[in-house]
Amino acid sequence: MDTYFKALKQILEEKDEITFLSGAGLSTSAGLPDFRSDENGFWKSNSPVHFRDFLSSKEYRMKSWQNNIAIHKKLENIKPTKMHNLVNRVIYRGTSNFHITQNIDGLHRDKAKEKNIIELHGSIFKAKCLHCEAEYDTLEYFDNLELDTDCLCSKCREGFVKVSTISFGQALVSKTLQKAEKASINCQFFIVLGSSLKVSPANNFVRIAKNNGAKIIILNKDPTPMDDYADIVINDCLENIYEQIK
Ligand SMILES: [Zn+2]
Repeated sequence: MDTYFKALKQILEEKDEITFLSGAGLSTSAGLPDFRSDENGFWKSNSPVHFRDFLSSKEYRMKSWQNNIAIHKKLENIKPTKMHNLVNRVIYRGTSNFHITQNIDGLHRDKAKEKNIIELHGSIFKAKCLHCEAEYDTLEYFDNLELDTDCLCSKCREGFVKVSTISFGQALVSKTLQKAEKASINCQFFIVLGSSLKVSPANNFVRIAKNNGAKIIILNKDPTPMDDYADIVINDCLENIYEQIK
């Protein structure tokens, strides 16, 4: 195990062409409840709205907005972890380093390096009209939202404004997928942080990176179905792993 930590530390400190892929495990170590385990019932009381329901009823649209605002409130007391900061240091070091994330919480965000951060499932900080694609700031839009008028876009007056996270039943944005694919093809090191790699397309990116010659490193609490592809697998929580490589 020591050799693994040593190799990982060296890659993170000295190499470029690194692509990270992060999942819920990166955020739970900051204190955000995981959708799958959800011990305190946060997601139960803010149960996700299916895209179909969002489109069909005002009641669900308002629930969707309220859920997202609840996540914003939850995040007020949550700070990025040391692992988030480490990833951002690597992103800052080279233009060829990327961070693909399944997380919507923005804890990974860095305004100056936005181009190198690929949010597969969108972000709770932005909202978008489903018709004309006009963009809004989530909190600003919610502050001005009059519940009896529904969330109609003030620009086109035709589409609904939705927080730009990807809902169940909603397709991923193809431009985002292409960017993530490119970052997986072009890297030399593909490092998974806290993702169970059970859902597509996240697991596909591991395959793409491997097929294009990258070394695969998987850091996750539990074994994943993609471990056979990896050169290094460390099964532990990210806080503990960080302590070994800082
Ligand atoms: Zn619009």
